[in-house]
Amino acid sequence: MIYINPFYLFVIALKVSKSSALIFLECTDESVSTNLEDAIDEALTVAEAANKYLLDGSYSEEVKAGLLPIWREQDFAPIAITLGLIGNIETAKEHYHIFCDEDHLQWNDARNAWLDTAFTYTYTDDDGSTKDYPISISRGYDPKLNKNTKPFDLGRSWVLAGKKGQLNGREIDFSDQYHVHMNPKIFSNADPRSIQTIVADGFQAGFDALDKIQPPSMVILHELSHLVRGLDENGNLIITDGPAQRQYYGYAAAVQAKVDAGNGGGAPNLIANSIEYGTKIMALVEVMGSSVWWSTGRIDLNTYEAIARD
Ligand SMILES: [Zn+2]
Repeated sequence: MIYINPFYLFVIALKVSKSSALIFLECTDESVSTNLEDAIDEALTVAEAANKYLLDGSYSEEVKAGLLPIWREQDFAPIAITLGLIGNIETAKEHYHIFCDEDHLQWNDARNAWLDTAFTYTYTDDDGSTKDYPISISRGYDPKLNKNTKPFDLGRSWVLAGKKGQLNGREIDFSDQYHVHMNPKIFSNADPRSIQTIVADGFQAGFDALDKIQPPSMVILHELSHLVRGLDENGNLIITDGPAQRQYYGYAAAVQAKVDAGNGGGAPNLIANSIEYGTKIMALVEVMGSSVWWSTGRIDLNTYEAIARD
């Protein structure tokens, strides 16, 4: 019961100049798709640049001032690796599919879960017939998911990564399939312009904090950072949003993650939000030729100096 939306056959392979372009944008809405294509391109470009910058190690005072409130010294090297994997994602062996809708999700009563029908493993049944087995979105992912509620309804962008495992006594392997679902409706009260545009044209009045600057490219970078490090031996993502009882989203949470890491909590290099915000700081450290001091996550729009948060 595989479901293929015919429009998904119109697959845009990005950066076709590379021989193994395995990142696919699957989006039927043309206006959304054009923006997403640019955003993916920017995410990869920024990640590659940030990787090189971190490996170089000669940080500017502004970057250090921005990063040290949210990263520990020992987070820099592993985050550089994660960003390098994103920047070079076309050379990965996994297939990354980026969706802008959830039309391919199908509720399944028997499994009491949404199935991602674009995410399938094909196996041969006892009778010799070939069957497709779509992967389900674990209710553990969010207990609020139900027959009437998909992840986008909760305001989320989200990912699904394949695992190896057992199905009816057979070894199954979804591990080369990674799905990113980009919610086109999030961040209504934020500046959605690209990093490139903000760097060239400057900030907009009222959007003076990292939380209020949300280019889609940084959402994509966040989601890809969940995936590029793969799964641990228990089949769980290595880079998460934090433990179930404490999810980290936003600048204040990025600061808190560093504090928590010193108290036995998760490490910033294993939290997508911390990677996203650090990358945003590096990408926006110079705007219209002037240095920006993101050490509090919020700036005076006239001087680009850090100001205290409310
Ligand atoms: Zn996340």
